[in-house]
Amino acid sequence: MAISGENLRIDGDRLWDSLMDMAKIGPGVAGGNNRQTLTDEDAEGRALFKSWCDDAGLSMGVDTMGTMFMTREGTDPDALPVYVGSHLDTQPTGGKYDGVLGVLGALEAVRSMNDLGIRTKHPIVVVNWANEEGARFAPAMLASGVFAGVHSQDYAYGRKDLEGKTYGAELERIGWKGDEEVGARKMHAYYELHIEQGPILEAEGKDIGVVTHCQGLWWLEFTLTGREAHTGSTPMEMRVNAGLAMARILETVQEVAMAALPGAVGGVGQMQFSPNSRNVLPGTVVFTVDIRSPDQAKLDGMRAEIETRAAAICDEIGVGCAVEAVGHFDPVTFDPELVGNVRKAAEELGYSHMNLISGAGHDACWAAKVAPATMVMCPCVKGISHNEAEEISKDWATAGAEVLFRAVLETAEIVE
Ligand SMILES: [Zn+2]
Repeated sequence: MAISGENLRIDGDRLWDSLMDMAKIGPGVAGGNNRQTLTDEDAEGRALFKSWCDDAGLSMGVDTMGTMFMTREGTDPDALPVYVGSHLDTQPTGGKYDGVLGVLGALEAVRSMNDLGIRTKHPIVVVNWANEEGARFAPAMLASGVFAGVHSQDYAYGRKDLEGKTYGAELERIGWKGDEEVGARKMHAYYELHIEQGPILEAEGKDIGVVTHCQGLWWLEFTLTGREAHTGSTPMEMRVNAGLAMARILETVQEVAMAALPGAVGGVGQMQFSPNSRNVLPGTVVFTVDIRSPDQAKLDGMRAEIETRAAAICDEIGVGCAVEAVGHFDPVTFDPELVGNVRKAAEELGYSHMNLISGAGHDACWAAKVAPATMVMCPCVKGISHNEAEEISKDWATAGAEVLFRAVLETAEIVE
């Protein structure tokens, strides 16, 4: 069957209706969603998604981490599947689109293939990764991390929420512990559509982000030890001020990140003064530096320079300085061929596009460890995400899903 490019369109209204239907489950308090992983609401969302997949003729597999794999058969029994998905779980005060667009956009691609009578050589598997958000059970991207061999399943099962309930027990409780061994599936390729969660596409007036990399990061926890002292009666030359050292290190982080531009960011979002009293110089200051870059050498260089300069600052003031790396991801370079398919699809469809580096972590970053992978991004209003005010337009969602659809078909190979 010859399928002209013009006819390769998805149904944007149907996609939007599905997004709105899913958003009715686990409504938030301010127009968004609270459908945290392994809650009753998560189970309800999974059931709705499954019913849609059943209607589309997909068959389900679930692994022992609770990730759902919904398969549309291909024509070649020896061809590995093309995986397409994201996550249906949300932050406690999350939006309607973060993750959900990627899962339902993948479902819409499959629905459109059904409508158009398209058969593909490779099977297509729509994926709903469990616990992407990590809000209830840290860390984020937990199930895809186990899939990619980054974490063990035992570690994941033992993760606890604030009430002390474990991932393993809650997965059993909601009835979504499958029987498939995690990571046993082999992927031909992996695509993920996601909202940008940043302001660049909207500001640049582009429809599509062609995602070439995921940033790597270091989280460095600094513990500075000075001497508690009265702020009024301690002469300046006798102070061992851990707060002053922190301020200078913050300035250093800014300088190091600015010097590493383009393609680097750095900042401090968390700090604790002890005793945190307005008339006591702090004895201890703990703060976390977050530095990110898609370039491994640059990222590690920033870390080294910050640590060296921080040590010198602390020496000069007489403050003790201990640094612990409390978080790390290596940068990810997405597969050039798949990235090219996304760019080509955007061009053929007449959507404006630009290259993007993902500033946040995504399941695709772990999938890239085991298969060629990439992402498609669409704009979100003012870059607001992880927030109930998260908003996108139907046109943006349609463009993103349409590009996803075309790129996936390129890799899955239409059988004429
Ligand atoms: Zn997400």
